[in-house]
Amino acid sequence: MASVLLQHVSKQFGSSNYAVHDVNLDIEDKEFLVLLGPSGCGKTTTLRMVAGLEEVSEGRIVIGGQDVTNVPPKDRDIAMVFQNYALYPHMTVYENMSFGLKLRKMPKTEIDKRVKEAAEILGLSPYLARRPKELSGGQRQRVALGRAIVREPKAFLMDEPLSNLDAKLRTQTRVELKRLHQRLGATIIYVTHDQTEAMTMGTRIVVMRDGVVQQVDTPDGIYHRPANQFVGTFVGTPAMNLLSAELSRQGTEFIAHLGDQTLSLPTQLTGPLESLIEPQVTLGVRPEDVHLVRADASDSLKAVVRLVEAMGHEQLVYLSLGSRDIVARTDNDWTGKSGDAVGITFDMARLHLFDPVSEESLL
Ligand code: ATP
Repeated sequence: MASVLLQHVSKQFGSSNYAVHDVNLDIEDKEFLVLLGPSGCGKTTTLRMVAGLEEVSEGRIVIGGQDVTNVPPKDRDIAMVFQNYALYPHMTVYENMSFGLKLRKMPKTEIDKRVKEAAEILGLSPYLARRPKELSGGQRQRVALGRAIVREPKAFLMDEPLSNLDAKLRTQTRVELKRLHQRLGATIIYVTHDQTEAMTMGTRIVVMRDGVVQQVDTPDGIYHRPANQFVGTFVGTPAMNLLSAELSRQGTEFIAHLGDQTLSLPTQLTGPLESLIEPQVTLGVRPEDVHLVRADASDSLKAVVRLVEAMGHEQLVYLSLGSRDIVARTDNDWTGKSGDAVGITFDMARLHLFDPVSEESLL
């Protein structure tokens, strides 16, 4: 296995805008790196450049210490797993997995050893004699993975490999993939637009938007310390609440004005706020950090419940805070209903503050 390095990598198709712009990534050996972002943000193009399926317009790609920028895909020693895993229908699982190695004229005993090992890891040993049509969708996906594993590549590149599976199988295969990563000690670069996949599988996540990397961090860092508003709202369901506010100063404290209501900000935020030139900020509060209290509770903001959504193990409460909409996540004990006047407080230690113009985090 190997490290993968992208240095100032850009891609322009013809004379159009950059599909990928100035991407710098240092992917360590054995890392499970997830490229996450909305459709069209450049994830697939980035992966295809690492694979060599797309030429880079600018920059350098290094795999395992070797500059491969101009090396053809077949000589890069990486394996790519796509969402449309095309298995040969007339071949058995064993033949599908061994086919690539046979083409390389690998000795039969070595092929047999590798296929059997991979089948063991993937739980496919009982199915080696079956044809693809005799397998479930998840098993077929595992055969596609098996085909990549037997090659013992320097790195695995995966482009939304779970997107054709139904919800249950997706969850199951997600767990299997994670286990597989630990077992193989493999370097994996994984593309998805699914934040749950990214958060549960990635050792680090790269969030992209419009071809530009927004943040590279651990799942915890992405969730709790988003670099900007885009990252803050892209990850988390329901999305982080954004509230525009105007600040005023009272001694050492800052007060946020939300319409005609006010919120004292904790003194540890005074430092970052000192340097602000304009009084406008955007507050970011995750739904689980909005707490519902009695309408007359002191230091609470006054809100009205608009809708309660029961989710089984929790409830989502949609509220109006003056002219602003806000959603709170609460447990099942809460018994309010739409039309109720309630108080809300925020977990101040988890408050996010963004510059309303640049949308960058101020913390
Ligand atoms: P998705 O999740 O929908 O697959 P993505 O994040 O993987 O999206 P890319 O497929 O990398 O995005 O595309 C990035 C941008 O580059 C898009 O604007 C896309 O239209 C453009 N693009 C991709 N391939 C080509 C191509 N061969 N020619 C021209 N433009 C392209």
